[in-house]
Amino acid sequence: MKIAVLPGDGIGPEIVAQAVKVLKALNIGLGMEEAPIGGAGYEAAGDPLPDATLALAKAADAVLLGAVGDWKYDKLERHLRPERGLLRIRKELNLFANLRPAVLYPELASASTLKPEVVSGLDIMIVRELTGDIYFGQPRGISTLENGEREGINTMRYNESEIKRIGRVAFEIAMKRNRKVCSVDKANVLETTELWRQVMIELSKEYPQVELSHMYVDNAAMQLIRAPKQFDVMVTGNIFGDILSDEASMLTGSIGMLPSASLDANNKGMYEPSHGSAPDIAGKDVANPLATILSAAMMLRYTFNDEANAVRIEDAVKKALAQGYRTADIWTEGTNKVGCAAMGDAVVAAL
Ligand code: NAD
Repeated sequence: MKIAVLPGDGIGPEIVAQAVKVLKALNIGLGMEEAPIGGAGYEAAGDPLPDATLALAKAADAVLLGAVGDWKYDKLERHLRPERGLLRIRKELNLFANLRPAVLYPELASASTLKPEVVSGLDIMIVRELTGDIYFGQPRGISTLENGEREGINTMRYNESEIKRIGRVAFEIAMKRNRKVCSVDKANVLETTELWRQVMIELSKEYPQVELSHMYVDNAAMQLIRAPKQFDVMVTGNIFGDILSDEASMLTGSIGMLPSASLDANNKGMYEPSHGSAPDIAGKDVANPLATILSAAMMLRYTFNDEANAVRIEDAVKKALAQGYRTADIWTEGTNKVGCAAMGDAVVAAL
């Protein structure tokens, strides 16, 4: 079992080191090799996704990624910016399905900005399409019109097969959960998502045990805050999923708690925390490594089919929280504030 480890930028190296520590502690013969991506890729090879990094990721069974990006790269040409490395690796590995669970651990109910009764027991899986939509659609760009005014263009587009394959992922996951799928679109205004809704309805005929509902994205944004426990699996396109999954992360108290998996059609996957590189706290040993550690658990579950060790990691995280360990982002009065590395050690000890 080979894992390509891509720490990236900002807090990436710190949090990935904790996940690697936890995976090594399992002692199950995982081979791990590191390579630069994002700003680190640009520094090392003048490319946010160096050829050697892409080759390593392609040869591996799974990829463990930290995060990419730093404000200092904002002035680079667009194709050299760190985020481009991330978009390209997702596209190159054909990682079309992004799974983002939002689970509220009982110990963290008070860290959420919402009332505990609204969020306690929350367990949502957001399934986001990752390789299509307005982030990739052509034509795109900024051009100058004849009158000298500039115009920006992006194109929202989805074809039927792209919608069907992400829908299938959502229905399959729902079958293993509470058998409810809510498809989020803006079918009243956008034709792309009108097609999305039609395809979801057609696909649902293959899953009669699953209850399919539809919601406009603006309402979904509201319902996630008003009554988030109504959702089981939520499936949506790339841009809506980007925004809704960040919103859902705050239900759980901190973005530092949210893992993610991005899968191809054969369950090869890239696993990364849902948050970014947090340059504001990089290098200070204060970042929360739990989202990355929980991403490693998802890797064992979805790519290596090792449910037992995935649960072992998740239980160790719960135990470390129950023992009172907290990084700054989830700290509350009366708990034990620790740094990034110490949180990793607490999880290893709990294992
Ligand atoms: P961010 O997620 O990096 O940070 C948002 C806020 O959350 C910050 O205050 C940060 O300190 C905090 N935070 C994030 N992760 C945390 C953790 N593990 N523990 C504690 N606090 C945490 O988003 P941003 O500030 O909008 O973007 C910063 C950089 O990250 C940008 O360059 C952006 O492009 C990039 N980014 C990368 C990814 C990715 O690699 N997947 C995703 C989003 C943003």
